[in-house]
Formats: sequence, structure tokens, C-alpha cells
Amino acid sequence: MSSCCSTSSESKKDNKRHTCPANGKEYLQVSSSTVLLHVKKPWQIGHSKLIEQSYYFCNDPDCDVVYFGENDVMLNKSELRSLVGIKEPDNDEALSCYCFDVTHAEARKTPEIKQYVIDKTKNKQCACESQNPSGRCCLKDFP
Ligand SMILES: [Zn+2]
Repeated sequence: MSSCCSTSSESKKDNKRHTCPANGKEYLQVSSSTVLLHVKKPWQIGHSKLIEQSYYFCNDPDCDVVYFGENDVMLNKSELRSLVGIKEPDNDEALSCYCFDVTHAEARKTPEIKQYVIDKTKNKQCACESQNPSGRCCLKDFP
């Protein structure tokens, strides 16, 4: 919301961290509504995986886990609706920007796109919190 795409430091509530059970590194919290918007068929996922708790986003390309919970429950790449761009840096078709549908290949080929995204972001015409699996602004993910 207010923290979406803010270029200054992120608001305090977003700074909660937890250790990814798979790679042992710490990652930032993501809202549970973002998780719901990106997992494949959330109604089919067992209640034990999608409970009321804090979830976190692992952005390590080498780690298969995308979301994990406070209780260390894990949601892997294969459980998501789409490729997570930041975890697929070598896949040209994966997205750099989810708000405006910019692939890694397009972002590399046309650097001006980044300025377009910056402008839209300044006008608050982006929707990173829901569109981007990380729940955060995509600008820092641009190549
Ligand atoms: Zn991980």
C-alpha cells in the first residue's frame, strides 16, 4: 500500500524477517494476500499450508522455495501460478515487471522501459503489492 514502490526505506511493518528453511538465509515478510494471489489453485492447497500466519518471500534463484511461513511450511516454485522473475534470471520470458508485463528480455533490450516504470511508479500507477510475487516494487529487480 503506502510502502509499495516507495523509493525511501521500506516501512517498519515490512521489515520482519524469517529464515528460509531451505537455504538458511533471512528474507522479508510478504502479505498473506499476496501469497494467495500467486499460488496455484489456493483452494486445493491443504489448510495446513495456508493458515493465518506470517509468510516470507525467498528471492534466491537457486532455492526452490518461493514462500515460507513462520511455522516453516514451504511453497515451492511448482506451486505457483507463474514463473517468479527474480528467481529465473536466465529465463528471457520470465517477468521483470509484473505491473506492466515486461519480460527480462524486453527489459534488457529496451532500457527505456525502466524509465517508463519509474514514471508510472511515481504516479502510483503500479500494483506491485498484488502483482509482483515478492509483494514489493519491481524496480530493484530490473536488470
Ligand atoms: Zn529459500
